[in-house]
Amino acid sequence: MQQLQDEQLLRSLTPTRPGKRPGWIERAGQQMLDLASNDYLGLSRAAFVPDDPVVEDALHCHASTASRLVVGNHPIYPHLETLLSQLKGTEDAVVFGSGYAANTGTLAALVSRHDVVFSDRLNHASLIDGIRLSGARLVRYPHRDMDFLEEALRSTSCQGRRWIITDAVFSMDGTEAPLPEVVRLKQEYGAYLMLDEAHSAGVYGPNGAGLAHHHGLHRHVDILMGTLGKAYGAHGAYIAGDRVLIQYLMQTARSWMFTTALPPSVMARAHLNVKASLNMQIEREQLHQHARMFREHLRQHGLDTGQSSSQIVPLIVGSNAQAVQLGQLLQQAGIAAVPIRPPTVPRGTARIRFSLSAAHTPQDLHWAAETVVQMWTVLRGKA
Ligand code: PMP
Repeated sequence: MQQLQDEQLLRSLTPTRPGKRPGWIERAGQQMLDLASNDYLGLSRAAFVPDDPVVEDALHCHASTASRLVVGNHPIYPHLETLLSQLKGTEDAVVFGSGYAANTGTLAALVSRHDVVFSDRLNHASLIDGIRLSGARLVRYPHRDMDFLEEALRSTSCQGRRWIITDAVFSMDGTEAPLPEVVRLKQEYGAYLMLDEAHSAGVYGPNGAGLAHHHGLHRHVDILMGTLGKAYGAHGAYIAGDRVLIQYLMQTARSWMFTTALPPSVMARAHLNVKASLNMQIEREQLHQHARMFREHLRQHGLDTGQSSSQIVPLIVGSNAQAVQLGQLLQQAGIAAVPIRPPTVPRGTARIRFSLSAAHTPQDLHWAAETVVQMWTVLRGKA
């Protein structure tokens, strides 16, 4: 604890609840513009009324009482899985308790210790932990460096399978995976591809189907993972793919088998929100417009937003102490945006991570961007 404190790495917990307006939260009793959550379409506060008896029934059931394979398999589960597989254009889908559980469970079940996994260096911790659990050899390639990946695929011997694993939109940088190149390499070197669409599902592509669909490449992705707790404003996650893959996961993925199923009421919210999101093209465009506006404002004033091209916009400040200070200043000004430090991001790249939402107003975002520029300029000058 002392060491964490000395390195400005201690994290704190602040009581937070929904605010008075969409896009706002109440934090430590204060109303703040919410630039920290992953509620990209504002769906966390939706209260759609069901027109479907399975969803209606599930909405009133708050405990699943057991794992899916025992007696926790409420009809809302296959119902939601059918909706997700239709959206993803896959044969089947399976819902997990969280994205963390989906990634760790899937990788530990499918990847063997004879395999080699090629993983982008900025992939989410849940992917890394899944690879570790599998016991496979891990080859990390520099962020989005396709030349490095190709050379690694060419020169690394492998007795088992090769896997390429990547986030679609990277959670702390807001960058996008170069999917056309990744797919070309996967095909050329006979690798399997797993894509984590946690931050792109609901946000990219036709009907919000994700980044793979945006590029028209979903048929080339063997394992499509996505979450229900971000753009879809509910909780949980899913894997979509071939029927045999999904059936195999239901027989072997330990994070799916040995845990109580999520409450049916939460799955009902997920079903309502996913369904509504299919037609939210206007909100998706608004979201991307908000992100462009916010990012450009920061860039025009010389702030470092890295290579972001999505609704996630980092302001890279470098030192842990300055990230913490800036986070505090912003909160005092009424903007919730949290400092992100190692080990979540590489050392020396501490940052404030802003995530935009269609629920924000352009006026609020303009005010927030001006405040960020002002505060960082003062703080940077003092360093
Ligand atoms: N993958 C990525 C890229 C993520 O950003 C996250 C959540 N931060 C997860 C997986 C885990 O999802 P969940 O929060 O549902 O466990």
